Amino acid sequence: MTKQPTNNSPEIEHEMAMFSLARPGNILLDVYLRNRENPGAITYLHPHLKKHLQKTFGVMIYHEQLMDIIKDLSGLSAEDVNQIRKSLGKKDKYVIDYWFEKFSVRCLNNPSFIHECNRKPDDIINDLWKYFYENAIYQIWGRYVTYALNNQEKVISRKTIDNVFEAAKIEEVISQFIELKNEGDKLTAVCPFHKGGTTSLNIRVDENRYHCSICNKSGNPVNFIMEFMEVRYPDALIYLADKYDIEIEFLDMESKIAHTIQPEPDTIARLNTKLEFIKIYKTKLLINNLPEEALYLRGREKQLLIEIENLKNQKSAPL
Ligand SMILES: [Zn+2]
Repeated sequence: MTKQPTNNSPEIEHEMAMFSLARPGNILLDVYLRNRENPGAITYLHPHLKKHLQKTFGVMIYHEQLMDIIKDLSGLSAEDVNQIRKSLGKKDKYVIDYWFEKFSVRCLNNPSFIHECNRKPDDIINDLWKYFYENAIYQIWGRYVTYALNNQEKVISRKTIDNVFEAAKIEEVISQFIELKNEGDKLTAVCPFHKGGTTSLNIRVDENRYHCSICNKSGNPVNFIMEFMEVRYPDALIYLADKYDIEIEFLDMESKIAHTIQPEPDTIARLNTKLEFIKIYKTKLLINNLPEEALYLRGREKQLLIEIENLKNQKSAPL
C-alpha cells in the first residue's frame, strides 16, 4: 500500500483532510475546522500525541498517524502495531481486547509514557483506546483520499476488484456497523435503509448477499458499503480492500480502455465528488464565518465545473 504522501502543499493537505472527514459523516469535520481556526486551544489525551497530530490540527486522520502514536506510546513492534490497526478496523471484540491488554501493559511499562501523564495512566490508556477504536473509520477514509488524490486519472484493476469480491463476507461487512441476530437458522438485522426497527434485513451467507423484506434493498458486500456509507463504487472497493488487506492496483485510463474493464471513465464522478465536498465545506464555512476560505473555494468550485464541462464535451465529441 502506498504511504501517505508527506510533501504535499498545505492546500492539498487541507483538502485531503477535509475530504477524509467529510465523507463518513461530519462529526470530526467540525472539530477539525474549529481547531484549525484556533490551534492554540487544541487539547491532547497525552502530550506525546501532539507531534503526531499537529499537522492535522489535533485530528487523527491517517492510518500512519494511528500507527505512529501506538508505537510511540507503547514501544510495540511495527508488526504488532499493524495488527492493532487491522483489529480496530475489523471490530472483532476478542481480538481487540487481546491487543488492548498488550498495549496497556506496554504503556504502563514505558517510562516516557508514564512520566508525561497528567492524569491516572490507566484512565489515559482507556481513553486513548476508545479514541483509536472510534476513529478507525476515519483513517480508512484518510487512506482512501490519499489514493483518490494521487490516482485521479487511474482506475482500480480488475484483479483488485475480483480479490475484493472474493474476500468480502456479507456477515462481516454488515456486522461491522449493525448488530446481527440469529433467528433460527437465519441471520437477520434491523434494516438501516428504512425506518421501523424490525429485523427485516436478511443476511444470506451462502449467497453472500443481503435483502430487506420491507424496503427491498438488496445486494452484495460492495453494494452494502455503497448504500450504507453513501459512497460510489470505487470508494466502496477501496474501503473493502483496506478492510481485507488487499493490495490495490491502479491502472491508467488508457490501459483501462484497452482492456475494456469498465465502460465509463470515473474522472467526472471524482470531480463531482470534489464539488459535493466543497458544497459541504461551504455550508460549514457559513456557520463558521470564514470569508477568505470561502473565496478560495469559490475559485476551486468554478474551476471544477469548467473541468467537468470540458470532460463532458470531450466525451460527446466524435472520435
Ligand atoms: Zn429495509
